[in-house]
Amino acid sequence: MTQIDTKLIHAGEPEPRIEGAVAMPIFQSTLYEGGPTTSYHDIQYIRLNNTPNHLVLHAKLAALENAEAALVTASGMAAISTSLLTVLSAGDHLLAHSSLYGGTHDVITHDLPAYGISCTFIDADKPETWAEHLRETTRAIYVETMTNPLLEVLDLVAVARFAREHGLVSLIDNTFASPVNFRPAEHGYDLSLHSCTKYLNGHSDIVAGAVIGRADLVEKVRHKVNHLGGSLDPNTCFLLHRGMKTLALRVRHQNESALRLATFLSTAPGITQVNYPGLPSHPRHERARELFDGFGGVVSFELDGGEDAAARFIERTHIPRKTVSLGGVESLITRPALSSHSGISAEDRKKIGLSDSLVRYAVGIEAVDDILEDLDRALRG
Ligand SMILES: *Cc1c(COP(=O)(O)O)cnc(C)c1O
Repeated sequence: MTQIDTKLIHAGEPEPRIEGAVAMPIFQSTLYEGGPTTSYHDIQYIRLNNTPNHLVLHAKLAALENAEAALVTASGMAAISTSLLTVLSAGDHLLAHSSLYGGTHDVITHDLPAYGISCTFIDADKPETWAEHLRETTRAIYVETMTNPLLEVLDLVAVARFAREHGLVSLIDNTFASPVNFRPAEHGYDLSLHSCTKYLNGHSDIVAGAVIGRADLVEKVRHKVNHLGGSLDPNTCFLLHRGMKTLALRVRHQNESALRLATFLSTAPGITQVNYPGLPSHPRHERARELFDGFGGVVSFELDGGEDAAARFIERTHIPRKTVSLGGVESLITRPALSSHSGISAEDRKKIGLSDSLVRYAVGIEAVDDILEDLDRALRG
């Protein structure tokens, strides 16, 4: 089978190349003339996500995850909300892991109830507890490849199996792993969702999303995107396409750097806890080794001295930019309690094991020795 590095460059590209252009040109055209026999349903129109810039990405993304089909969307949230609204309708019930990306959690708890869709939050690491939450109306189960910011690795194989056994659609947000580290279709997932804003584009300069998976479901999501309007602009398609070509190089570098960083922190004075699936001390390290080709670029950790120590440490670092997000070429550092998880009450944060002093480091592609030196200096004060 062709390896992912080769697919990133060649899969889905037009053959022969358009006007011989080696790089895919931008088709900045809203409308396309069909031939006299083109049916209305085959018309190419920018919102229908079916211009040449879209089609290249669809074929490439499907190939990357060894899936049947793919679709790009205007953002990761467009991919997630449109997929949920495709597989669920009024009266339906969803099972979802209790700790989710903030935006997804908000859609499920604030928006879906208004459409008559309910959800029960489960612990996706405890398969024996899931069946009791099943209802006649349960249609889908939703998880993330690695939880943010604690980097838990749930029982992902059992989730896909449970979905198959009970006729549910399985959805997984694969943003944190990227197709380089994990390919959900290989484990029986129906739909894999991405914020391409992160690793897939990799340059912190666009917003985009993707839905990858079973052809019949992707086709349904495609219709819903056409109706709801979350399609991706061709200019942004071009940038995403360009960014994706170096995905494997970037993610492997980030895997290696994050492992070095986590290993360094795990013996550094003043650090009391390090969360990274690549460390042998991670409670699900064995599972992560079996499932993933790499452990990702995000590490979270606790400093002795609580919130003040964490704030001082962050201020003393020079390399990482002090903000949210992940997956770009530049390293980023943040305290999730003040950023991504600030909307959750202090009590609920405690329940999911997220302390107010937790620091999250999303590693970029800078030289790892420089990153470690910077951290070392910041820890010494
Ligand atoms: C960023 C992110 C999203 C949302 O993606 P946008 O592109 O910002 O809409 C969803 N899930 C995860 C895991 C993310 O990190």
